Amino acid sequence: NRPVVCILGRPNVGKSTLFNVLTRSKISITEDTPGVTRDRIYAKATWLDHEFALIDTGGLDPSSDEAFMPEIMAQAEVAVENAQIILFVVDGKEGLTTVDREVAAYIRKSGKEALLVVNKMDAKESEDHRYDFYELGLGEPYTISAEQSRGIGDLLDATVASF
Ligand code: GDP
Ligand code: MG
Repeated sequence: NRPVVCILGRPNVGKSTLFNVLTRSKISITEDTPGVTRDRIYAKATWLDHEFALIDTGGLDPSSDEAFMPEIMAQAEVAVENAQIILFVVDGKEGLTTVDREVAAYIRKSGKEALLVVNKMDAKESEDHRYDFYELGLGEPYTISAEQSRGIGDLLDATVASF
């Protein structure tokens, strides 16, 4: 069975942008299926000699009163349960938020291996937040720009190294 890689994080950090960049050019898609939304959320992928399934999820916000949040949380829970490794995406431009801390706590509770991914490092403001994320206790962050496809190779190397 191929490993499952799950992209997790609060809304608007760039999860779907990362999913798209990973499936567009850096890894080859051999199969995909539509998700419940208009967005594609699942892709079979390869990097180097490794095949894996990549899953995008809806933005997690445990304290949100948004109508679909219970469904989004439930779907993410299933994705996490099946995942070998989580790519936990945060927003370097905005810095660390309460919801990031909640999602980090959820990931720690899941016991799953996780890589901390600080996205939007192309933005000028992001430099100010570079060191904020260490306090999440998830180790050395991978700094990327999904929009500019920067840092993606190192992230994928670390991802497949965990299989
Ligand atoms: P999601 O809700 O986590 O799936 O986030 P999206 O992928 O939909 O992106 C949310 C917003 O962040 C969009 O306006 C993107 O254009 C923007 N965004 C995503 N990645 C980057 C990045 O690397 N740099 C910058 N500056 N903006 C980004
Ligand atoms: Mg998204």
